Amino acid sequence: MTTFPPVTNFINGKNLKSEAQTMDVISPISGETISSLPLSSHQEVDAAVASANAAFPAWSGMTLKERVQIFFNYRTLLQNNIEELTELVHIENGKTMGEARAEVLKSIELCEFAVSMPQIVTNEIQEVSKGVECRIERKPLGVVACITPFNFPNMVPHWTIPNAIVLGNTVVLKPSELVPLSAMRMAELLTKAGLPDGVLNIVNGGKEVVEAICDHPDIKATSFVGSTRVAKIVYKRASANLQRCVALGGAKNHLLVLPDANVQMTANDVVASMAGCAGQRCMAASVMVGVDKVQHIIDQMVVEAKKIIPGESLGSVISKEAKERIEKYITEAEAQGAKILVDGRNTNVKGRENGYYVGPTIIDYVKPEMAVAQEEIFGPVISIIRAKDLDEAIGIENSSNYGNAAAVFTQSGALAKKVMAGASAGMIGVNIGVPVPREPFSFGGWNESKFGVGDITGKSSIEFWTQNKKTTSKWNPEDKRDWMS
Ligand code: NAD
Repeated sequence: MTTFPPVTNFINGKNLKSEAQTMDVISPISGETISSLPLSSHQEVDAAVASANAAFPAWSGMTLKERVQIFFNYRTLLQNNIEELTELVHIENGKTMGEARAEVLKSIELCEFAVSMPQIVTNEIQEVSKGVECRIERKPLGVVACITPFNFPNMVPHWTIPNAIVLGNTVVLKPSELVPLSAMRMAELLTKAGLPDGVLNIVNGGKEVVEAICDHPDIKATSFVGSTRVAKIVYKRASANLQRCVALGGAKNHLLVLPDANVQMTANDVVASMAGCAGQRCMAASVMVGVDKVQHIIDQMVVEAKKIIPGESLGSVISKEAKERIEKYITEAEAQGAKILVDGRNTNVKGRENGYYVGPTIIDYVKPEMAVAQEEIFGPVISIIRAKDLDEAIGIENSSNYGNAAAVFTQSGALAKKVMAGASAGMIGVNIGVPVPREPFSFGGWNESKFGVGDITGKSSIEFWTQNKKTTSKWNPEDKRDWMS
């Protein structure tokens, strides 16, 4: 398997070797060590923040139109290097080449939104009384930070960094320690695209880096994407230190399937939502609530799930621990009386015997109180709960602590609207299993799937990464009226 030089930090445009203890970077498709990364210290965060601070005046002093030019160049570089970037995601994260390519394409779409900012972020101006005008300008915040998870090594950094930077901020990024390679490549390509030194800095590592970011007095805002457990820690700590913070957490997405749903489309969509990216998507289907008589749809789901070939149309999960955790959930559900219709335990991929593969798994007759019905499994596993009617199904969805996505499969507009109104989730799908809002719409969940105001992408991100400056001016000294009149 391809190996990569040891990962460094990226501060003030330079790759800086860290003196810190290192950790292996392991490819989950083979279990082999492919690189190492430093578990950097808070002093390295200080250096990155100092670099971002020094770069801020010149960068924020440019016009928005000038700043986006770099992202036009960068978008071309992403397109020109798509094969290599795809392979990098495949190797470090384990998802299939097709899924990895889709991820990079999504990063390109995110850049396209960022370069459209001059068309969207127009300031406001009004003559509020004779000769007196009020204007509102959007100004950057200063140094900001982004903390990202393992499951989209290329895309999730692109949720925040292009928007934050084109809006005039300078950034410190802390990628997941499990997948640092794509983020480092992002920095290389942005440098090639013309991004000045210090505008983007990367500090690799784990908890110590995150804590140093949350505590840093010069960081004005932090975005976090990861598990709910850590989202809560980061949100509380960053907010306590007076940073603006949006922290996206985990998920337990419910798909409500009604008997009138189109059988083939529903079976395909539910299975693709559950097994795509090996179930390691915060938008993945995790619970299917089958309303009334849906056996014919479940039978078709089983047919579709059995067509999936681990190692070909299904990637690996991220680690040995993840594989063990997922398989334990399945075993516990079975012991509690649930019925395993398709069993992904003990999956072996020929030639990749040391990779971390779990096959697609469908568990039927799950009870709402079971762990597989309540907790985030983050693997290619779906739990089916049977409900007698739609009200009961919506009640099951509502009882989840999470609230990222929910979806309904039906041919009835009236029943679909009932779910759209009643589901307690931030992103709703109607006959769509992974209802990710595409740019310029914003991405973000409800309940314990997101902490903070606003969403992380799209138009909502403009609010997050900027502050309004309100200026009231009067240039008519000859007019003796009070400016408030
Ligand atoms: P994670 O929470 O373990 O890690 C996320 C980041 O937090 C990483 O950079 C990691 O180094 C850091 N971190 C981990 N433990 C920490 C601690 N104790 N203190 C401080 N920092 C810590 O998440 P993950 O396993 O990398 O990613 C999977 C999770 O992310 C899933 O729960 C998934 O649902 C969630 N996720 C959510 C969204 C969303 O939009 N809501 C999107 C992608 C992933």
